[in-house]
Amino acid sequence: MKTKIMTVDLEPDLRSKNSKSIELALPQLLNFFDDHTIKATFFTVTSLLEKYESEIKDIAKKHEIASHSHTHAWLNEQNAEFEIGHSKKVLKDYGLPCEGFRAPKFITTKNHFDLLKRHGYNYDSSFVTVLPSTFKVKEIEGVKSISFPALPSGLTYRKLLHPVSAVFPRPKLFYLHPWEFLEKNELPPATSVTELLLRINTGNSAWKIFTKVVEEEKKEEMERCRWIGCSEFLKENRGL
Ligand SMILES: [Zn+2]
Repeated sequence: MKTKIMTVDLEPDLRSKNSKSIELALPQLLNFFDDHTIKATFFTVTSLLEKYESEIKDIAKKHEIASHSHTHAWLNEQNAEFEIGHSKKVLKDYGLPCEGFRAPKFITTKNHFDLLKRHGYNYDSSFVTVLPSTFKVKEIEGVKSISFPALPSGLTYRKLLHPVSAVFPRPKLFYLHPWEFLEKNELPPATSVTELLLRINTGNSAWKIFTKVVEEEKKEEMERCRWIGCSEFLKENRGL
């Protein structure tokens, strides 16, 4: 049976202060995962625990929680240690074990793996590549690094390049954000061209594109494909 990694970045809606998606899209996403027997890693911005403790603890009953920093600030030399270390501590204080980290916007600092190691992380998922078919797990300074291609792996790009993206290769790792399932009028107003692009094919269209990714896999694989979280994948593939 083929195993693949499903990941969700749980963060405020498009860099706003709000997280309507936790109320409006997350329940449907969790049901979708149940219906398709998908286990995922939720890279979580840990400041969200102040308002959404029960929702995040509910996710943890079935899925893996990891860190997506504390405030979703892009990492730099000044804030990296706080974002990496404090988010791990916050998760621990809430009784949520955390093994992995993903940097906001995939931006990391030079001493990234040193910081992860010092704060007790086992793996990282912050590195994306341009070329497709470059999913890779390697060990860097005692931390497992799961790198993957941005294009076929992200719902963000699949939405932006829809319908061309339907022919993208099937990804070994997938990532998405609950805010991608909000309709345009539920999202904060766009303040840049990039933000306008992120609103293309949002909401119902995003559901159709994501459902197709998951259901095509099932149809085309002779054996059923199994989606699991990062930690479980690393445990099953120790030799990688
Ligand atoms: Zn993010």
